[in-house]
Amino acid sequence: MADAPHSVTPRSWQDIDKLVFLGAEAPRYTSYPSAHHFGNLSPETYAAWLKRLTPDQSIGLYLHVPFCEQMCSFCGCNTRVTLRYDPVATYVDALLKEIGMVSDVLGFRPRVHAIHFGGGSPSILSPLDMGRLFEALHTAFAVTPEAELSIELDPRRITSAKAAAYKALGINRVSLGVQDTDPDVQLAIGRVQPVEIIKNSLSLLRSYGLDDIGIDLVYGLPAQTLESLKRTLAHVRELSVSRIAAFSYAHVPWVKKHQTLIDTDALPDTALKAQMFLTLSEALQAQGYVAIGMDHFARLGDGLTTALMTGTLRRNFMGYTDLPNDNLLGFGASSIGELEGGIAQNIAQSTSYVTHITDGELPTTRGWVYRKDDKVRGAVISALMCYFRADVGQILKNHGYAEDYLDAELRHLVPFMRAGLVTRTGRLIEFHSELKMLIRPVAGIFDAYIHDDERPNRYSKVA
Ligand code: SF4
Repeated sequence: MADAPHSVTPRSWQDIDKLVFLGAEAPRYTSYPSAHHFGNLSPETYAAWLKRLTPDQSIGLYLHVPFCEQMCSFCGCNTRVTLRYDPVATYVDALLKEIGMVSDVLGFRPRVHAIHFGGGSPSILSPLDMGRLFEALHTAFAVTPEAELSIELDPRRITSAKAAAYKALGINRVSLGVQDTDPDVQLAIGRVQPVEIIKNSLSLLRSYGLDDIGIDLVYGLPAQTLESLKRTLAHVRELSVSRIAAFSYAHVPWVKKHQTLIDTDALPDTALKAQMFLTLSEALQAQGYVAIGMDHFARLGDGLTTALMTGTLRRNFMGYTDLPNDNLLGFGASSIGELEGGIAQNIAQSTSYVTHITDGELPTTRGWVYRKDDKVRGAVISALMCYFRADVGQILKNHGYAEDYLDAELRHLVPFMRAGLVTRTGRLIEFHSELKMLIRPVAGIFDAYIHDDERPNRYSKVA
């Protein structure tokens, strides 16, 4: 018989300081297991997984461009600064060679439903090099006419020649790093880009027919206040984009050394950061955006909103996605791919990556071979991260497990139920807070590896 649902009091920002969970550390679950648990993985293992792909399967591709003209002090990406194009050109040659090497291992042209250029700043690539990369991709893969071709752009670096090249190459979705439009915040994070530059870059992209535009915002930045955030949100309304990702700033100077440039006294505390998220979420929904997962917002008609409504929303290494499956090949330094057998990551350092490729070796160094119950635990975590609701018994049955397989984990929900964040009806879990980031520690209950190593600072803080 099902347990009776526990009573729940929806939380508002007034009592967030009572929620100790905001100070907890938990993975963001862009994969399960999360990248912290990856171990050594050989190029031979990755090659064996590639060989198992069949022509009836479609795949996504991710290309990482780890270069920027300038380092923003808040940056959490794998990138490095270059003021010369030579290292970029050498890296592009390596990418072209890696595409050829993977194609040789595959032995056929798999169907591709998505290509994404991420970074760093892919906008650093010259139109000529973008053209060479697309030519190689079309040679190695059967890119479908309806494929999503997307790129992350720095608003400060978009030119007419680049916008024209993106359109000509078939790019149909762009994402711009906006972060915050307040001059004091921009100064505090070492990324000065007046709102006029952002508006002009959007106009330029739109003039070339690139209309599917998303932006990234970041909350919890130094010098950011509720008032400055509201001014940024007013600018966001004027930008009128189709999709917004609003990330929490993760201050991890022990991983990202340049973050030591951030004045920690200027960082908002946990309660203020949570309040910022609520302000942002409320404002964006009032502007007509639908809240997607814990940090995305999209217009009606956007692929993410449709995926949410049709039950096909998923989580992958790039965040929330409406792409149809998990098959993803990563190219470039630090890129991550996923295939039926597991997860494979390329070597992170760009010069080492180039050396591997020059030596004719696939640059896979880390990853994860899927173990017995990874897929079913991953499915529970994904349901929680995407829908804030998981029918654990049903998910277990769908994966061929006994309904009570995760009952021990379900018992660990009690503190969250006491805090009014979660209700449980039998094996159905429902999350009730507007503080969506709190889903991370709830999902963590089903993570079999999270307690393997309890060193502090292993994961970023929830807020
Ligand atoms: S935030 Fe973007 S532009 Fe700034 S250093 Fe990081 S990757 Fe480069």
